[in-house]
Amino acid sequence: MSNWRRSFLKNKKILVTGGAGFIGSHLVRLLLKQNHEVICLDNLISGQYQLVEPLLTHPHFTFIEADITHPLPSMSVDQVYNLASPASPKDYQKNPIATIKTNVIGMANVLDFANSCSATVLQASTSEVYGDPEIHPQVESYLGRVNPIGIRSCYDEGKRSAETLCSDYARQFNLDVKIARIFNTYGPHMRRDDGRVVSNFINQALLGENITLYGNGEQTRSFCYIEDLVTGLVALMNSTHDYSPVNLGNPSEISMRELALMIKNLIPSDSSIIYKALPQDDPSRRCPDITKAKKILSWSPTTDLRDGLAQTISYFKNL
Ligand code: UDP
Repeated sequence: MSNWRRSFLKNKKILVTGGAGFIGSHLVRLLLKQNHEVICLDNLISGQYQLVEPLLTHPHFTFIEADITHPLPSMSVDQVYNLASPASPKDYQKNPIATIKTNVIGMANVLDFANSCSATVLQASTSEVYGDPEIHPQVESYLGRVNPIGIRSCYDEGKRSAETLCSDYARQFNLDVKIARIFNTYGPHMRRDDGRVVSNFINQALLGENITLYGNGEQTRSFCYIEDLVTGLVALMNSTHDYSPVNLGNPSEISMRELALMIKNLIPSDSSIIYKALPQDDPSRRCPDITKAKKILSWSPTTDLRDGLAQTISYFKNL
């Protein structure tokens, strides 16, 4: 067995900040399934307690309600996944100052904590670091086009600063850091009211309400199913790759108008599509170039959008 595989299989003590959130709750479940000891830390500002509650009786699971803008509790772990931050535009725009503090002060606290116990850190960065991109699809070497004073800045500039902190801790302290740039992700455990396009369209269509298309609906996104994404996060964390960022997402691109029609047909729903103003700084195109992830992690997503949407629709139907 290779060294990589051996170290991957060994049980570890793992901290997941933001473990009560959409991505965090799936990651926590995967790590528990792999027999690791998991500590989930979340301030529940945008996470959902009901996602961790069923795990409280699990012998290898601990939940701590805390905020990473305060120093982390003293303990020793092998790995830290830093997923703590409001992440949907609606959530971070409701809490802009808390969001940037979480991504700057919180990131520094997570890195200090990891440095104190020599843990490996995986930072959940984002495609938002590319802003409204001039090159397409987005490759990791692209430096981005971000408005520093707009309504998305608390998140995208916050995540850019977090990447800077990660790189400096890696260089200055030789800390083992990984940076995942996560593109749009969807699936069960999204909040019905998170304001994201997939949860909005599905819930509007299920309830027979108007489907709200912002702008002319020509803007594109590329949606990765949650199970594919968390597999990529774990592969990156356990790789020997350095702190240079790695895109994780599904390169299959779709316009918001096509997405609305796909969801309407899958349900099926006779909701009407109505047009609303495009929010400020809404990126016109977004699609990951995942050549790097394929090469260094042998990872690529396998879930087709229709199949993933069907799973998500059935989750919301049964809520
Ligand atoms: N969007 C939309 N209707 C909605 C919610 C979002 O047309 O009810 C659009 C939004 O303007 C953006 C895309 O869908 O172009 C994705 O939005 P989301 O908030 O999910 O995430 P983003 O990729 O913008 O961070």
